[in-house]
Amino acid sequence: MAVNDMRLVVVGAAGRMGQALIRVIHETEGVTLHAAVGREGSAFIGKDAGEIAGVGPLGVPVSTDPLQAFLDAEGVLDFTTPATSVTFAGLAAQARIVHIIGTTGCLIEDEEKFKAAARHARVVKSGNMSLGVNLLGVLTEQAARALPATGWDIEVMEMHHKHKVDAPSGTALLLGEAAAKGRGIDLASQSVRVRDGHTGPRPVGTIGFATLRGGSVVGDHSVILAGEGELVTLSHSARDRSIFARGAVAAALWARDKKPGFYSMLDVLGLSR
Ligand code: NAD
Repeated sequence: MAVNDMRLVVVGAAGRMGQALIRVIHETEGVTLHAAVGREGSAFIGKDAGEIAGVGPLGVPVSTDPLQAFLDAEGVLDFTTPATSVTFAGLAAQARIVHIIGTTGCLIEDEEKFKAAARHARVVKSGNMSLGVNLLGVLTEQAARALPATGWDIEVMEMHHKHKVDAPSGTALLLGEAAAKGRGIDLASQSVRVRDGHTGPRPVGTIGFATLRGGSVVGDHSVILAGEGELVTLSHSARDRSIFARGAVAAALWARDKKPGFYSMLDVLGLSR
């Protein structure tokens, strides 16, 4: 570890993303694993975080004490659950550190709490931390702006592994928001999240979502723009969770010298306008 390394805490350390984060921190220059936090009652408490992630011992046992873990830390990488991320947002704000939130399925009231915490913490939150998906969002917005709603229907399709608990995925919603922005409409009132039974014809101008679940799929997303006699498909396929973990670590390093505030991956990647 070098003196200037950014000291990062991984919460949800034994989870799928937690392990990917520990591996990426281990192989990335300029960052170090300061502490690892797991869920109360988890079988991994007390075990070495590096052993759990498969990179060998790192001398960082997984604890259940975020307050202790955040002491002297500079940033928290958080891919857990909405309620857990809300709790950690309060603690990160008290500690005035960087909080990278990858957790999806958050409610509007959770988002408000994250924004309140961002008065003191530097928060970067995104439903997808990969460069490819954030570029896809920019392309989706452009395509939705260019193709008129009267002749072109937009559908967002996603597939994830069978363990995923929220739907549509945070990424599908991110892409839906990008399409809505391009169209100048409000996604919440213009989206069709499920279809079942006699639905009637497709309402003009809406953005539809289709969710598939199965196997070990890390994350596949397509934005389909369907016109009369032609179809444009913009798509992204995540082959490995490390793309999200690398994005989260890059976000932490980016936020290190920023002012408190609520940022997105578009800010980190310089894709925001
Ligand atoms: P997971 O279930 O494998 O891991 C979540 C971990 O959080 C578990 O180990 C659990 O024990 C832990 N946890 C829960 N409550 C806790 C608490 N109170 N204290 C400490 N730890 C706690 O899930 P996953 O596949 O790693 O995904 C986690 C989240 O990240 C999901 O919301 C998922 O959709 C999201 N995700 C986001 C991105 C992105 O780029 N933004 C990418 C992949 C996954």
